[in-house]
Amino acid sequence: MKITDSLADHFRLSEPHKKALKKLGISTIVDLLYHFPTRYGDTAEIRPISGLIPGEEVVLYGEISKLKTKKSFRSKVAMAEGELTDNTGKIKIIWFHQAYLAKMLREGGFIRAQGKVSERNGALALLNPKIESIEKLPIGVGESLFGEAGKEGVLYPVYPESRGLSSNWIYHAIQRIFKSGVIDEIKDPIPPSILENYSLPNLRTSLIWIHAPQKQTDATAARKRFAFEEVFFIQLRKNRDRAIWQNHASFKIEKDFEDLKDFISRFPFPLTSAQAKSIKSILSDFRRRHPMSRLLEGDVGSGKTAVAAGAAFAVINSRPDGKDFGNLQVAYMVPTEILAEQHFESFIKYFAYTGIQIGLITGSGCKKFPSKVNPLGWTDISRSQLLKWVANGEIPILIGTHTLIQKTVKFKHLALVIIDEQHRFGTAQRQKFREKEGTIPHLLSMTATPIPRTLALTVYGDLDLSLLDELPAGRKTPITEVVLPQNRNSVYEKVRAEIKSGRQAFIICPRIDEPDPDKELAVLAKSVKEEAKKLKKDIFPEFEIEIMHSKMRPAEKDRIMNDFKDGKTDILVSTSVVEVGVNVPNATVIIIEGAERFGLAQLHQLRGRVLRSSYQPYCYVFAETKSKKSVERLRSLQKAKNGFELAEYDLAQRGAGELYGRKQWGLSDLGMEALRNIKMVEAARNEAQKIVEGDPELRKHPQLKERINADEKIHFE
Ligand code: ADP
Ligand code: MG
Repeated sequence: MKITDSLADHFRLSEPHKKALKKLGISTIVDLLYHFPTRYGDTAEIRPISGLIPGEEVVLYGEISKLKTKKSFRSKVAMAEGELTDNTGKIKIIWFHQAYLAKMLREGGFIRAQGKVSERNGALALLNPKIESIEKLPIGVGESLFGEAGKEGVLYPVYPESRGLSSNWIYHAIQRIFKSGVIDEIKDPIPPSILENYSLPNLRTSLIWIHAPQKQTDATAARKRFAFEEVFFIQLRKNRDRAIWQNHASFKIEKDFEDLKDFISRFPFPLTSAQAKSIKSILSDFRRRHPMSRLLEGDVGSGKTAVAAGAAFAVINSRPDGKDFGNLQVAYMVPTEILAEQHFESFIKYFAYTGIQIGLITGSGCKKFPSKVNPLGWTDISRSQLLKWVANGEIPILIGTHTLIQKTVKFKHLALVIIDEQHRFGTAQRQKFREKEGTIPHLLSMTATPIPRTLALTVYGDLDLSLLDELPAGRKTPITEVVLPQNRNSVYEKVRAEIKSGRQAFIICPRIDEPDPDKELAVLAKSVKEEAKKLKKDIFPEFEIEIMHSKMRPAEKDRIMNDFKDGKTDILVSTSVVEVGVNVPNATVIIIEGAERFGLAQLHQLRGRVLRSSYQPYCYVFAETKSKKSVERLRSLQKAKNGFELAEYDLAQRGAGELYGRKQWGLSDLGMEALRNIKMVEAARNEAQKIVEGDPELRKHPQLKERINADEKIHFE
């Protein structure tokens, strides 16, 4: 056995095994070794009740209650039922023909139940399970890593399962891999000096400790090591990318803040000091001969577009190197057509007086400002005409969707690329601008997604950060109310009054926990449709209601969004995943259903949709739970100053698993856990920087290079 061998070479894998392993991304021995347990317990067989999937064969432990016997409705078969509860959830148990079983059990007693999970009348149930009464619940039932603290002795690992692959199977497979001795030949990718510096166990020890710990402290040390490893390699990759990127030449743009004064003084508002500071940082990046990679992070409404306009102004007023004619160019890429149109219009307002030309390119057509017939407006032009003017440099600013990065779009002197809502683009798309040979453009990315500092340091390790942490003066702060179920109707009345006076409302349907990502979208779409139907029928029959969700085609979404923008629709019922950046100044109310399922930072971002108006905005946060803690957590929305504060609060209160959009960061659960430890993240960053410094290609560290190239392959897939 070798660690790079395929599992199939050494294990007899059934079809369900193969499918499940593929889903978990496990194909080799080493892949399986890096599939870590999420918990430890007295036994390897326990499943938490939450997250069960119909069809699974499971062993559950919990407290049995609500025992009763009856005759089934149709067939008159004697049956019994009860409810099994652990600290993650509950499930119904039904026995047919075995009604006596229920009588043998004690209400409130602990049991072990083994059987197949089925779906009955829309709920999960265990049918005719094997039952055993037990004295006390084994450790490991529940969410905490070690059940009750302080436990020593043999700890069984409990692995994240997938349909067709039980924790038990993984446990035994790993035992066999250990016995083969293969881990003795495994090379530790982390340099020994680093392990020593931070007292981290080596790879071989860590693998044993994480899969078969004798003590809780061993497991903890191993987890710490793997968390460090993950963050370290991300940092190393980002730092290497940055070093290579910065080795390229870029356009030198020598503009001072003074040079922008006249341009800025025409804005209908004074800059916030955060905006001014960001523009200054960008200008000082431009003076270097190396390409900038800066990320501008700011809440929705913090005014990122104005900063982008300032940067663009400096660029288009600069000449190509060594020339006294012509100008440099700017490409501005946004994730949707609606946003592209919106930015095109804002840029026309900012730049109209300069007399320069601005182009717009999207999947549905091209436009150019100014129009020959109307110097104050734009005109439709053909794609080929637009591309010609971009290629010869006559159009200095081109705004568009991802069509911007198509091969046919050629610039004469592309000196600055601006990417709005950058998390919506894949790394590969962003990388496109960096692949070019020779002189490459400066890069300004912008995002409104508030994330904690440790996550930013990790996933944006290749970028310099500018924060827009203050909102423009005079903004109306939204009135935010956490609404308990009994007050629902009074809120609907307030919303009715608001819409009657001419305003519009968003109603957001909650995230639905669905382990299968393909299914998740379908479930969400369904909830949006049903909610809209219910609202139309029971609550707001007099209003126009439309729905929007991520399963719709882009053209359909655009149409619905435009109808909403134009006031044709009063209420838009949508999922949380669509169109955060869109500006509908007349929408003043947002209702968020099932709010406790969202992270605070995400709620804050949703609320941002109604911040664009001069009317008083309202945000109603509907909670389904009465848990004091959840309600208290939601109330922090009323107090927090900005999204960053809320993101930190989420991280501290609920843990890394709850961070907004966690799927998009490409970190494992363990890696996300590392984010709670700022010292670890900083250490990983420092070490990565030290290694890359002076050796960006990692020539002196072939093993590290090999590892990050392998990681990269996974991330680009
Ligand atoms: P975001 O950061 O969400 O992209 P925008 O750039 O769209 O924000 O700006 C939101 C609104 O705030 C726009 O209408 C813009 O004109 C306005 N705005 C931007 N900066 C300021 C400022 N310093 N003072 C007042 N209003 C501003
Ligand atoms: Mg924006």
